[in-house]
Amino acid sequence: MASAQPHAKLNLSRRTQPSVQSGERMKILLRRAAIRKRVLAVAREITRDFRGERVHLIGVLKGACIFLSDLIREINLETSIDFMAVASYGKRKESSGQVRLNKDLDSSIAGLNVILVEDILDTGLTLSYLCRILRQRRPKSLKIAALLDKPSRRIKNICADYVGFTIPNEFVVGYGLDYGERYRNLKDICVIEAPRE
Ligand code: 5GP
Repeated sequence: MASAQPHAKLNLSRRTQPSVQSGERMKILLRRAAIRKRVLAVAREITRDFRGERVHLIGVLKGACIFLSDLIREINLETSIDFMAVASYGKRKESSGQVRLNKDLDSSIAGLNVILVEDILDTGLTLSYLCRILRQRRPKSLKIAALLDKPSRRIKNICADYVGFTIPNEFVVGYGLDYGERYRNLKDICVIEAPRE
């Protein structure tokens, strides 16, 4: 398990991060090269753990889509993909504490090695809800791969089997993670330092 690097401070310009509107200052928490390296390492772990078997990756929309698409291309096994969508945060930074299923799986997971792929494990409410639902469907195995883990915020007793980075209690955006649907396209994972007026 890797920890976030010391925070590198950067005032983003349009040239380096074109999607960021002027007036917003960002701090890079995890650079793209570090993310790439960890995604590769997690994919290698999965490849080793499931040697000779098929894995069925379930992405939690929308935040996990970029992590999943990078991860699956580095897994050297037979794979398949499905997606679930849940509502938790909306446009705010704090969870409502309630999880609602907005999109269910397209097909059965009975007898499959399922890896639930999530962008970030925060309070744990989302993943404990999803794991409860998925276990009832009799997969052969069920594991969690989370790009980021914020253990200090945990409410539910849950941990991921594969973790990219353990990070401090900060609200992060980029690499699939949004704030009010913005910033998913940032290549680095950043913290918004000063929101726009
Ligand atoms: P949990 O249910 O574990 O509290 O939260 C899981 C979901 O909350 C994540 O999939 C993500 O959508 C959202 N979330 C939690 N922390 C952050 C964060 O720091 N940044 C962003 N953009 N979303 C977060």
